Amino acid sequence: MAQILPIRLYGDPVLKKKALLVQDFGGIPELAENMLESMFEARGVGLAAPQVGLSKRLFVAAEYHEAEEDEPEGQEADLKSRIKELYVMVNPVITYRAGGQEVGLEGCLSLPGVYWDDVPRDLQIKVEYQNEKGEKKTLEAEGYLARVFQHEIDHLEGILYFQRLPLPLRQEFMEENREDLAEFQRRAKSFLKELSVKR
Ligand SMILES: [Zn+2]
Repeated sequence: MAQILPIRLYGDPVLKKKALLVQDFGGIPELAENMLESMFEARGVGLAAPQVGLSKRLFVAAEYHEAEEDEPEGQEADLKSRIKELYVMVNPVITYRAGGQEVGLEGCLSLPGVYWDDVPRDLQIKVEYQNEKGEKKTLEAEGYLARVFQHEIDHLEGILYFQRLPLPLRQEFMEENREDLAEFQRRAKSFLKELSVKR
């Protein structure tokens, strides 16, 4: 039975850290399983290990089929029934970028409910990575999937999506989401406090 891991919010220092290479693959299949389950639970398209408090170079992602129009929204089971493809990428590196940059909408499970247009990303990328068993793989992606991978790989560098905005837009982002960001910071702080008490 997979475990749902609490997702770290904006303000948690683990989100700013550069994550470490995974060298021991011992616990990785189980961790990936738990991260996928946590991602479904939060209804996300991607989740990086720092977002569950682990400074490791690993993320999971999913592509989903479009929801039927008459399907009720908000149920976890519906999301899982729409899985098209799952990705587990350990130690991912973008080795090739092409097609120029395109701006688009992004959100993040560490900033829940906050979205922003105009996040620039490369249109086509090639990623070299290892799967959960440590086997070397290469994958080419474009468009939305390439955007998801770039967002998740940024997490491994301690970068959040709004930091990719050009400066005037980034100021606008901070301004418009000031209250939400402050609330995330408060919640991140109290979560860490609780965690240190438990330990
Ligand atoms: Zn994110």
